[in-house]
Amino acid sequence: MNYQEGFQLEFQNSILKNVYLYGNHDKQFKPYKGDLPFGITFTMCNAHIVAKFGEPTSKQGGGPINIGISYDHLGIEITFQTKTWDQPNVAIDQIILYEPAKQTICGICKKNGELRCGQCKLVYYCGVDCQKTHWKQHKGFCK
Ligand SMILES: [Zn+2]
Ligand SMILES: [Zn+2]
Repeated sequence: MNYQEGFQLEFQNSILKNVYLYGNHDKQFKPYKGDLPFGITFTMCNAHIVAKFGEPTSKQGGGPINIGISYDHLGIEITFQTKTWDQPNVAIDQIILYEPAKQTICGICKKNGELRCGQCKLVYYCGVDCQKTHWKQHKGFCK
């Protein structure tokens, strides 16, 4: 436990499995002050994250648990300071890092996607049509 630094390492059979980076919400931990991966800042909300990274590989939470979205090709799960999907402008609660998957999916339609945004290299697309669709939101967050 690194209460002061705002992060926690989770091991499974002595192998590092998850890294938790805590935002400004968690009462148990001080916020993590170091650099965040992929140009994320804790003030970004879920709409910003989807504009930057596209549709997530999976969604978690709701009900009793804070909502979260995962991008398996980046090995990142981001949870937000809300338990409902109806609130679009809520800041990040915590970031969890894990081993990235090899498979990449389109950030719009979620089919297999091999085409990558040439600029930020963070989002994959199945083709130029989906890339163009996402670009309207993505251009402000592509860096
Ligand atoms: Zn697509
Ligand atoms: Zn981009």
